[in-house]
Amino acid sequence: MFYLHRNIIYAQMDEEFSRLLANGANHRDVLQENYSESTIKHIVLMENGSDREVIIMNSEGNIISSSDESNPILERYIPLVMKGNSENDKILVSDYKNSPYIASLHPFQNSELSGYVLMFQSTKSINAMVNELTLHFGIAGVISVAIILIVYTILSKVLTRPLINMKVATEKLSRGDFNVALPYISKDELGQLSSSIQKLAKELERLKNERNEFLAVISHELSTPLTYITGYAKVAMRKDIKEIELEQYLKIINEESEQLKELVKNLLDLAKIDENSFTVAKEYFWSDQFLKRIKKLVEPSYKLKNLKLKIKAPDKFQIYADPLRLQQIVLNLLDNALKYSNEYTEVGLEIYNTDNRTVISVIDKGFGIPSDEIELIFERLYRVEKSRSRTYGGSGIGLSVVKELIEAHGGTIEVTSELGIGSTFKVMI
Ligand code: ADP
Repeated sequence: MFYLHRNIIYAQMDEEFSRLLANGANHRDVLQENYSESTIKHIVLMENGSDREVIIMNSEGNIISSSDESNPILERYIPLVMKGNSENDKILVSDYKNSPYIASLHPFQNSELSGYVLMFQSTKSINAMVNELTLHFGIAGVISVAIILIVYTILSKVLTRPLINMKVATEKLSRGDFNVALPYISKDELGQLSSSIQKLAKELERLKNERNEFLAVISHELSTPLTYITGYAKVAMRKDIKEIELEQYLKIINEESEQLKELVKNLLDLAKIDENSFTVAKEYFWSDQFLKRIKKLVEPSYKLKNLKLKIKAPDKFQIYADPLRLQQIVLNLLDNALKYSNEYTEVGLEIYNTDNRTVISVIDKGFGIPSDEIELIFERLYRVEKSRSRTYGGSGIGLSVVKELIEAHGGTIEVTSELGIGSTFKVMI
């Protein structure tokens, strides 16, 4: 604003000086060509009544004629003419701020006499114009500053406030307080960042709750068999106990320890999966040997519950998987089929190869799973009918481990189930 103001004034003054010089040069030319009394009168008359004045003087400094003879101020400039070099047209006074006139000097010479034309321009109108310009620029400056302040305030509200809110929110998150509420901003990058932080907070909150719930359930699951074990161990240590009772108590202690062992094994697997330190070592092995081993492992418990295991498999073929992990998967499914079936029912184990994949199905005629819970049974600690699971020794971890193991093989698992009819778990690996 300041430089623009100055440049406009300089340009305006340049124009004033040029106009003054052009007028003076005009008068000088006329005088040089046609020097007479009437020419002088004519020149003086031309400038009379305007805000310009003219003095025609000889080279000794005597005034020949003036457009405003009653104005003593004009004469004050005459000594300036006599000083210095006055051979060419020039601006004699340029200080429009402090001087009442700006002036130009034009030397002339003809056969009769040599002298000067002195042109004056009142600085009143110039100063009025400068003041007006300054006022307009001042107003424009004030308006600009006001607009900048308004824009600054708006921008700081729109940009900085959400950033400050986000900073506060992330600090809260780092302190473990996940209860953050960031207002909706917009769809742009800032808005996306804000909703990402919000999502992160929700996810952290969910994980925290899940972890707490997990720990609560796990400690409960661990403490229940331990209570049995310590309780029965104390009773078993009594001297007055019969041998048959002792055998019974030791059997309970053994069963509970096995369950505890299984739970801890599953937990370790889950921890490994979470840490990504879990690996599957795939290799080729024969289906018949695999099935033989499975049968040997599950048969005693199946017999105990009077369940029939019906294996359906073609002649031996090769399976490509981690044999121990696949065994773990199938045993888990067969164990569930055993737990959630009534006595004297049948459990089917079907296994065959298709297009480079092995399909293993475990089909039971047990209790079944409600259709709205089928999707949930693979979640950690999810159990259909909590009390039922406990009765049958479940902790809700088995299927989540099974699913992770299958996924680690790059395979899938599907479930179809009907309440009261039975369930089928189909593994493709
Ligand atoms: P659990 O250790 O409780 O058996 P799982 O993760 O193996 O845990 O199974 C989750 C839940 O799914 C079980 O609590 C049970 O209610 C249900 N479930 C699993 N397999 C079967 C099945 N074959 N028949 C009926 N319900 C089943």
